[in-house]
Amino acid sequence: PACSTVRYRILVLGCPGVGKSALTTQFTTSEYICAYDTSLDEENEKLVTVVLNGEESELLFVEHTLPIKADSFQPLETMLNNADAIITVYSSCDKTGFRKTRDTLLRMNNVEERDPKPVILVGNKTDLARLRVVSTKDARALATSIGCKFIETSVGINHNVDELLVGILSQIRLKGQQL
Ligand code: GDP
Repeated sequence: PACSTVRYRILVLGCPGVGKSALTTQFTTSEYICAYDTSLDEENEKLVTVVLNGEESELLFVEHTLPIKADSFQPLETMLNNADAIITVYSSCDKTGFRKTRDTLLRMNNVEERDPKPVILVGNKTDLARLRVVSTKDARALATSIGCKFIETSVGINHNVDELLVGILSQIRLKGQQL
């Protein structure tokens, strides 16, 4: 029956300007999308229906901007509670933002120890190669240390954006099977 489509809530976290909105907008144009409900767009939320491996899922992407100030921490618990998965985005051209992302991931790791959710660390803007200040190696090391996935993307040249979309849904489905 049509009403059996499962809806997953995906938190998209990152500092201002890293490309959260650009990424989720690019998702809506993916070949895996079979429906896109624009009625939610004004609240930093995008709702799409994805068909992957012949199975439909609704994905609600909820963008959340991390404050730039190093010491202004926000309570993550409430946000994480409602999320089925988390995409943490940094810009490979911004070291301060990367550190902020790392701090947030480490704090999330503490909150989540009992019920870990799929997390993907996303290094965006790789097309701006000459401006790069965060290496693939450093970011991968961070991902390995906290046990999350890692992918580098460019919305600018549409690199790995579909892979990220498929990756996050695959991880959510895999986790569901383990329960
Ligand atoms: P948000 O604040 O995290 O939602 O960031 P936006 O999605 O608004 O993006 C901020 C700026 O970065 C915009 O001007 C985007 O066009 C640009 N941008 C986003 N992703 C990329 C990328 O992969 N490459 C380049 N060159 N620019 C990007």
